Amino acid sequence: MKEQFKKIEEWSLYKERPLIISGPCSAESREQVLQGARELAATGRVDIFRAGVWKPRTRPNSFEGVGKEGLKWLREVKESVGLPVATEVANASHTNDALKFGVDLLWIGARTSANPFAMQEIADALNGVDVPVLVKNPINPDLNLWVGAIERIVASGITQIGAIHRGFSTIEQGQFRNQPLWLLPIELKRMMPTLPLLCDPSHIGGAREHLHHLSQKALDLNYDGLMIESHIDPDSALSDNSQQVNSEGLVKLLSSLILRDQIPGTSTNFDTLSELRAKIDLYDEQLLELLGQRMQIAQEIGEYKKGNNIAIFQSSRWEVIMEQVLQQGAQKGLSAEFIGSLFRAIHQESINHQNKVMNL
Ligand code: PEP
Ligand code: MN
Repeated sequence: MKEQFKKIEEWSLYKERPLIISGPCSAESREQVLQGARELAATGRVDIFRAGVWKPRTRPNSFEGVGKEGLKWLREVKESVGLPVATEVANASHTNDALKFGVDLLWIGARTSANPFAMQEIADALNGVDVPVLVKNPINPDLNLWVGAIERIVASGITQIGAIHRGFSTIEQGQFRNQPLWLLPIELKRMMPTLPLLCDPSHIGGAREHLHHLSQKALDLNYDGLMIESHIDPDSALSDNSQQVNSEGLVKLLSSLILRDQIPGTSTNFDTLSELRAKIDLYDEQLLELLGQRMQIAQEIGEYKKGNNIAIFQSSRWEVIMEQVLQQGAQKGLSAEFIGSLFRAIHQESINHQNKVMNL
């Protein structure tokens, strides 16, 4: 199956690359929504105002959104501020309500796109409607689940469909709230080359300081747009407070991003070099992750040796390690010289960690 998707340039809400969607994680009050929208409109940099009214929270007893009431505030934003509005829908009743209140763009969240029943229910509610729909990646790194969610929306007859890359929840805790796993959206684009693709650096990073790096990377990979959470007073936000910026922060961020030259006709087609670099970055990330974990174990060994009064350096153990890695490295085409210096450096770092533990 090769779907033909409407290019983002042909979407009714589109003005210029990259498409910028911004607004609070959650609609909290009428004033917060309207003031937020007015501030963003005044920047002239935001195409669509976002706010979640139904919040899928991991744990109960956290703020779960204001519900339908918030749709009235979004309608006011549209009518009095003049920005198109977007919200998240997670079932048929949300979808019907959002459409009734004239929401201009719907997105489907990561916990919902992981659920084929919910996706089908939303797709059925969208039958015969013409509203742009963005499908976030499912929370778990399962490309087919993401593709399937998109296919269900395609089958509903919706023509303006896009995907949002918001990172994946995995067992390893990396530097980000969610692991970007850039290879997955790249693979999605390989399967659906004309599908518009946006990045949500807020939910990948989970903290303001990561927004620049992640947004720039998405632009370098030729993404069509960004969804960035912003709030009138980020620190006091009722959800996702550490990842939101105020309108000033948003302008600063957007102004610092470099838009690479577009090759005509290649919109969101990843070129070979970017794709290969994304792979290298991914493996580098994994290497660092593993090295960090290895040092953690070295530390535990240090504690054990300290408790049992065993010397740090055991030359026989080191010889066994070296012999093993040289042999395994050779099988992978890695030279003895490279493996030797790599593992000597790793071993030295290990000893340094253990030394620190011993001398505590
Ligand atoms: C959100 O956009 O506020 C949200 C809940 O996102 P996600 O579904 O990516 O967690
Ligand atoms: Mn959020």
